[in-house]
Amino acid sequence: MNIITDHHVHSEFSGDCNTPIDDVVKRAIELGLKEVMFTDHQDFDYPSDEICFEINIEEYVEKIKKLREKYKEIDILMGIEIGYQPDLNDKINNLLNSHPFDFVICSIHAWNDIELDTGDLFKGKTQEEGYREYFENLKYCVEHFDNCDVY
Ligand SMILES: [Zn+2]
Repeated sequence: MNIITDHHVHSEFSGDCNTPIDDVVKRAIELGLKEVMFTDHQDFDYPSDEICFEINIEEYVEKIKKLREKYKEIDILMGIEIGYQPDLNDKINNLLNSHPFDFVICSIHAWNDIELDTGDLFKGKTQEEGYREYFENLKYCVEHFDNCDVY
């Protein structure tokens, strides 16, 4: 039987998640999964005072290493979810090239000081204008950044 595993999983290393990373691994083992993939958030320059999406990368890398030693019965993969913004190309590439990530999700959560999940994208614009801006940013991202496995 093929078991499909989720390749978009967050833990306490993400600013929007409180679940201890050990608990996720234990649950994955309980469920009989052969692997678990973490893709915790890294958004440089995220425009909010309320939430921080900057991962403590050294701790994250070290923790994954320890989990791999502790839980031999499951493959623990180290991914990351990058928040793309056009002026962050070099910073993002530096991070991605400095650690052996198994999987990279490229997301667009914010740009030009706009958090996409607040609805600010549509302020002073028609719905079409807001969506157009979003897709133009997505197009720019796809054309200028390919250091990832999935957008
Ligand atoms: Zn995510």
